[in-house]
Amino acid sequence: MPIRRTKRGAARTPVSGEWDVVVCGASFAGLAVARELAGTRARVLVLDRYEIGERQTSACGVPTEWLRVMGLMGAHRQTFGRLVIHTPHFTARLELPWTFSTFDYPELCALLWAQTDAGFETATVTGRGGSVVYTDRGAVSAPLVVDALGWRRVLGRGYQPPDAPLSRGLEVHPWGAGDDLEIWIDRRYVPAGYGWSFPARDELRIGVGSFDPRFHVKDTTVLLAEDLEAEPVRYQGNWIPHRLRAATEDGVFFAGDSAGHCLPLTAEGIRTAFYFGIACGRELRAVVEGQRTAAAALTRYHDFSAAHERKFRSMLYAQRLIPRVPPRLLASALRAMQWRRFVDWSFGHYLRIAPPSFAAAGPPARAPALRRAAA
Ligand SMILES: Cc1cc2nc3c(=O)[nH]c(=O)nc-3n(C[C@H](O)[C@H](O)[C@H](O)COP(=O)(O)OP(=O)(O)OC[C@H]3O[C@@H](n4cnc5c(N)ncnc54)[C@H](O)[C@@H]3O)c2cc1C
Repeated sequence: MPIRRTKRGAARTPVSGEWDVVVCGASFAGLAVARELAGTRARVLVLDRYEIGERQTSACGVPTEWLRVMGLMGAHRQTFGRLVIHTPHFTARLELPWTFSTFDYPELCALLWAQTDAGFETATVTGRGGSVVYTDRGAVSAPLVVDALGWRRVLGRGYQPPDAPLSRGLEVHPWGAGDDLEIWIDRRYVPAGYGWSFPARDELRIGVGSFDPRFHVKDTTVLLAEDLEAEPVRYQGNWIPHRLRAATEDGVFFAGDSAGHCLPLTAEGIRTAFYFGIACGRELRAVVEGQRTAAAALTRYHDFSAAHERKFRSMLYAQRLIPRVPPRLLASALRAMQWRRFVDWSFGHYLRIAPPSFAAAGPPARAPALRRAAA
């Protein structure tokens, strides 16, 4: 179980004050936004219900190059050049044109945080009215507000499972080691979705994701762990959005899962949270530096996110199609897909949906600066 470090009792003094930017959510998207504002004169406050890095929100697998360009290799655990896909009738081994890595969540969040110069408070965000953000510890205000709070989209029109377009993901984290990044497309584990095992040096992250939110994945997560002779311990799970949503609403910027930025089919949402968080942060930076109005930034960011609609939709089609393919046909298709040029082409396209060069192209991360005390 995670260790609770979040402020309690007398330590939870009221929060208040006026800020230039309030970023709600201190995970991948929120920290990526705050990082882009480092070095400006803006007073930035980041809020989260937990301490930064306290609650792991994923299996923490990402294209290695994203870790490198963001200066996060210090959190790196293990790198893979190959993806192994198991089906009941065939196991494909795809040699990837780029590598994928696992990382340590608390370490990565600490590294990201060190690249910001924002203030931070642990507080549960409950809503917003105009420029005021309400929390369980009081209210803060800012002309620029970001919701990076994950799938609930607390500051917008929310989502309720099981009717919303959400997938369900659960994993266990037994101690152990492995050499391969493995995926299972097998109805024994989930009718529509996949199972995975992501080794992270001395830990395995074994889980099952269901595209159908009504399918409960607990039993089959345990089944997959047992099949791999691993202990089903240290659970971690969440809902995963699989449809893009408007990236702005009623004057608020949404980044990461709150905007449905997690990719359908693969449920890869970390690099897209970085990518759209950086895009959002760059717009906010232009506003606080006086180059753009808030209204213009909202429009530009909304349009930037919406321009990815076609790519997200085609991944959603694939998400709907693959579970309908009979297992023997799927095995034949995977056999054909192992062809090197096809893998290079398809995975090249896939990476370019949110390419690491986007982060590299912007202003480099600032050295850790003196933090402003939260109000
Ligand atoms: C089991 C599982 C495994 C996954 N594995 C991978 C993977 O290996 N690779 C990958 O790319 N993607 C993976 N994903 C998807 C990925 O986790 C998400 O897409 C990603 O975390 C989105 O980042 P985010 O910053 O938008 O939101 P989150 O990471 O969900 O962060 C939201 C933050 O907001 C805070 N918060 C929420 N509500 C409130 C509130 N009311 N007040 C204050 N704070 C609040 C939370 O504490 C959290 O810090 C996985 C998902 C699951 C469920």
